[in-house]
Formats: sequence, structure tokens, C-alpha cells
Amino acid sequence: MSATATTGPATTTADGGVQPLLVRRARLLGGEETDLLLAGGRVARTGPGGSLEAPDGARVVEAAGLVALPGLVDLHTHLREPGREDAETVRSGSRAAALGGFTAVHAMANTDPVADTAGVVEQVWRLGREVGLVDVRPVGAVTVGLAGERLAELGAMASSAARVRVFSDDGRCVHDPVLMRRALEYVRSVDGVVAQHAQDPRLTEGAQMHEGVVSSVLGLRGWPAVAEEAVIARDVLLADHVGSRLHVCHVSTAGSVEILRWAKARGVDVTAEVTPHHLLLTDELVRGYDPVYKVNPPLRTRADVEALREAVADGTVDVVATDHAPHPVEDKDCEWAAAAMGMTGLETALSVVQEALVETGLLGWADVARVLSGAPARIGRLEDHGRPLAEGEPAHLVLVDPAARRPVVPEQHATQGRNSPYRGMELPGRVVATVLRGRPVVLDGALVGDQPDGAAVAS
Ligand SMILES: [Zn+2]
Repeated sequence: MSATATTGPATTTADGGVQPLLVRRARLLGGEETDLLLAGGRVARTGPGGSLEAPDGARVVEAAGLVALPGLVDLHTHLREPGREDAETVRSGSRAAALGGFTAVHAMANTDPVADTAGVVEQVWRLGREVGLVDVRPVGAVTVGLAGERLAELGAMASSAARVRVFSDDGRCVHDPVLMRRALEYVRSVDGVVAQHAQDPRLTEGAQMHEGVVSSVLGLRGWPAVAEEAVIARDVLLADHVGSRLHVCHVSTAGSVEILRWAKARGVDVTAEVTPHHLLLTDELVRGYDPVYKVNPPLRTRADVEALREAVADGTVDVVATDHAPHPVEDKDCEWAAAAMGMTGLETALSVVQEALVETGLLGWADVARVLSGAPARIGRLEDHGRPLAEGEPAHLVLVDPAARRPVVPEQHATQGRNSPYRGMELPGRVVATVLRGRPVVLDGALVGDQPDGAAVAS
């Protein structure tokens, strides 16, 4: 166990620049103790633990016992603003992201209004910049209003200030094969990617949970695995046919993994993500009818969880993405059938990955950096994120204490959502510090210069 001791007063110098930061004796990617000197928004120098002197005016973070990773990147976050500020705002979601170790998040398009124009994506991007805790990169909708009828202004969103590269109707599937083909063809010209929420709408009408033994016992309408797998199979064939890049959101079944493995072996340009909750939780939890476990796609079986873990370990699934989906209490705290689908995840993702993949011996910390930072940054074309912590690279990093263990208390989270499925569970790991462009935004596990949510933002 170890905590940071920091010295030095402010983080901003008199001329408005960022104060240099010396991170001392951090275990780089879980390996050797390393000193990292951050200045001018970059990693200025690295050296063996204890070898670097702090320059005048530098702040020092003592990081012995802590693991240093590049700042985490989430490919799949619901920030809810504009339109559902009762569920989350860019500000509250950014706070949660920074506390979870993220330095960049992709904000999903299913807001109100839908992020299907340059105007809306620029609004979300600007809000993210004003908050300034993480880089917020908006996802653009594939179809106007997520209605699945005609393509949105993909080119205008791509060339906007928000520089959208990921397009998704997430929450809904782009089900029409002709529309999906056109979207795949179009994004090629902007170096973009279609992120598909793979769910056949007809096979899942009225579905409440995974279709299997537990759904039969409970008498709840089942959500068959084939409803996901059939769409993924079609889409990898379409992507292959038109030579485009495809990303599959929140893969949840063993069969989906098999299809992805086949597609990758064939050379299809496809990537895929899995959520933390699909790596840890199963449909057995639904037996208590607690809607905190209601999610889309649904929690599956133990065999699916095992297959997904193996798929992350062997690279078939490229990314762990949170699908952070905060809901107001009244939308979750009701009977199962009426409850909204979704779980929060930003502040627990790294701990769940440690529990499910590191402590089981499937991943080392360098692999964690790959699935939670390098790969998602590459897929989202965030050139400035997901880079190695080496001299000259951008200074985005997270320090985690892997020896810490603590119970999950959603009331202590910065997200407005209280719908964490890990409530009461004890999970390993604690984010001690998050550094964005050389500036610490989280230190000693708390936001730096914390302002309560809704406080006025300096311009
Ligand atoms: Zn989705």
C-alpha cells in the first residue's frame, strides 16, 4: 500500500503554463521503478527510479508501489448532455472519467437532440473543453435521429471542430443492410469507423434478459445470443465486401467471439470491445429481480464470461470499453420490466479489469494499457492519446495502487448515476492520480481544486 506525497503549491505557473511534474519511482506498466519528468505537456525525460532531480519549481509525486499507465481512453461513454442532464452532464461525467483514470472519452450520440449534426457534436466537444478534465471526443450518429432511415451528415461531423471519427447509432442497431453498407462506404473517406450496436430488433422485441436457463425459470422474455451474433456475422461480411473498417460495440457472447476470430483470421478490418460488466457478472444475478443488473446487451452465462476473458487475452477482442450508462434513480429503482437498461462504469472499470483479467493471470499491466488506452485511441483516431510513456510523448498518465482493495460505494462516485452493479463488492486497485497533458487533474484519489458539480466554469 502506498499513497502519494506531493510537494509544491499550484499546478499552474505564473505565466499560465503548466508546472513541471516529477513522478518518482512509479512502476512503468507494472515493471521497473521509473522516474518521469513531465513538462510542456510532454514526457520530457525518463530515467531509472530515483535518478532524476526535480527542476526548480517542479511538483513531485512520490509513486513508489504505484503502477504507471498511459491515460485511459474510453470508446463508449454516455454523457447524456444535451437533453438528459438529470442523468449526467459533460461535467459530472468528466469528473467520473478523470477519477477512473481516463484522459479521453468518446461521448455517445444518443442524446436529445441526437448528435447527428456538426452543431451538436461541436456543442458537446466545446462543453468538454470548458470542463477540461478529460478530452471529450463526440461520437456522431450514423442515421438522422438514430431512426435508421437515412444517413446523418457524417462528412460535416468529421470536418467539424469536433473531428468525429467514430459513428454509431448505439442504443439502436443499424439494422438495414443497405444503410449499413452505405455508412461503411462513407466513413472510409473520412478515415472513420462505424461502431455497431449489434442487436437484431425483431429477435429481441420485448426481451428482458439473456435467453437461457435463468430466463425460463423467471419467466422473463429472453434475449437470444443469436440476435447479436447474426448482426456481427452480417457486418463483418459487409465490411469485408466494401473494404471498410468496422468496430463492434459491447460483444457479450461466446459465439460473437468465434465470429470475430474467424473474421480477423480472414483479414477483415474489424475491432471489438467488451464491457467490464460482461467480464465479471452473469445472468444468475437477475434471479433477485434487481434492475441494477438490467443492461443492453444483457448479462450472459459463466461460459460467455470465460470466452470473453480469453478473447481479450488473445487479442480477438481489442478493447475494454465502459458503456457507462448513468440513469436517474427513478428510472432504475422500479420493477424489472419498467426499469431502464444500463450501468455506470467509469469509476470502476480499471478495478474490474484488474479483478477479472490481471488477478486471474490473463493480462499483465502492459496488456491493460493496450486494451484500455492504446487500442481505443487508435480505433478512435485520437493521435494524442494511447501513446507509450516515453520521452517526447504526450503526458497523459494514470497512477494506480494495485495493492489497494475497497468496497464500491456508488454514493461516493462523481457520476450522477447510482446504478453501479458492483455496490458492496470489494474490488482491487485504486486510481491515485490522473494527469492530462502534464497537468494533474486527480491527486491522492481526489479531483484537484475540486468544485462541486454545477459550479460556474471559468472561461
Ligand atoms: Zn449499445
